[in-house]
Amino acid sequence: MIHEAIARYLHRQHQTVLSPKAVLFDMDGVLYDSMRFHARSWYETATRHQLIATPELFYLYEGRTGDSTINELYQKTFQRDATEEEKRSIYEEKAILFNRYNDGKAMPGAADVLKAAKNSGLQTLVVTGSGQHSLIDKLEQTYPGYFKREKMVTAFDVKFGKPHPEPYLMGLEKAGVQANEAFVVENAPMGVQAGVAAGIFTIAVNTGPLDNQVLLDAGADLLYPNMTALAEDWEKIIRAAKGV
Ligand code: CA
Repeated sequence: MIHEAIARYLHRQHQTVLSPKAVLFDMDGVLYDSMRFHARSWYETATRHQLIATPELFYLYEGRTGDSTINELYQKTFQRDATEEEKRSIYEEKAILFNRYNDGKAMPGAADVLKAAKNSGLQTLVVTGSGQHSLIDKLEQTYPGYFKREKMVTAFDVKFGKPHPEPYLMGLEKAGVQANEAFVVENAPMGVQAGVAAGIFTIAVNTGPLDNQVLLDAGADLLYPNMTALAEDWEKIIRAAKGV
């Protein structure tokens, strides 16, 4: 299954070799078990402002920047863009709720994936659409020695955000590697789209409530139910990439 996935990737991207040197990790739903708190705070904030939404919608929007999510809600409800003031005040409300709900718990198995990546000599970077200082600043404490601030891509760095390839292209640049020298680890359909659009071998972990098919349709090269399962297969993936 892994060999076939790599063959499909090479064919799709017109590459001859997959030779991983870096792993670009998404943050919410991959490194932190935080997506349910994001979904809950987005949904409550949207409801307060009579914006049309369901809790599941925010798993489909996951990966977008806050501004872009708010714009989508305004387009859906009022068929117009949100004003700068609406974007600012709604994002602030959502952030206050998120910080109240979020327990900051690490995603089970994520530390094992990081350790396995490091053991196979790969750089580890974070590429997130998040602008939540509460989690970004906590990364070094949760996963000491894995992420350097100057090598992170966050909402503060990007113009477009996922599903645009820009955040992952920036991640490649910060890692100093080519698209066929990296893996993306993502849990959200738009994040998977962004990784694939950047030409990177994209591993999905379905840590949320969406159907697996949504992540496969987004273009995921491999799919795991959680980070623990990915950690267990890590060596196999590396060996398959090396063609042994
Ligand atoms: Ca995510």
